[in-house]
Amino acid sequence: MSDCIFCKIVKKEIPSQFIYEDNDVVAFKDLHPKAPTHILLIPKKHIEKLTDMKAEDSALGGKLLLAVSKIAEIEGIKENGFRVVVNNGKYAGQEVFHLHFHILGGKPMSWNPA
Ligand code: AMP
Ligand code: ZN
Repeated sequence: MSDCIFCKIVKKEIPSQFIYEDNDVVAFKDLHPKAPTHILLIPKKHIEKLTDMKAEDSALGGKLLLAVSKIAEIEGIKENGFRVVVNNGKYAGQEVFHLHFHILGGKPMSWNPA
């Protein structure tokens, strides 16, 4: 989508710190990290949010999940563990309406999602 900031990152129209890219997905550093490691993993295809995924996106969903492990390896957070968060819609505080997985790690975390 032309006015979507993450589509612009995919097309390299605005700068970002890419850490992984393949035919279907891209991962880059979050501009305002909430943890020592904070990566955003997104599909290249513009999908607004998790609940907008369709049956035709099932392979893409699998690719996103498999990419999480690759990114954790690249970032050196796989062994100690990390968190994957998807904010879906208004009550979750989703700000960018292009599906993204937050990959958060680099320190022990508590569990207080609210
Ligand atoms: P969410 O609240 O789940 O929609 O998260 C959006 C995330 O995108 C936030 O953590 C922002 O810091 C991050 N963000 C927004 N613009 C950029 C950008 N240009 N490059 C990297 N991260 C961004
Ligand atoms: Zn988009």
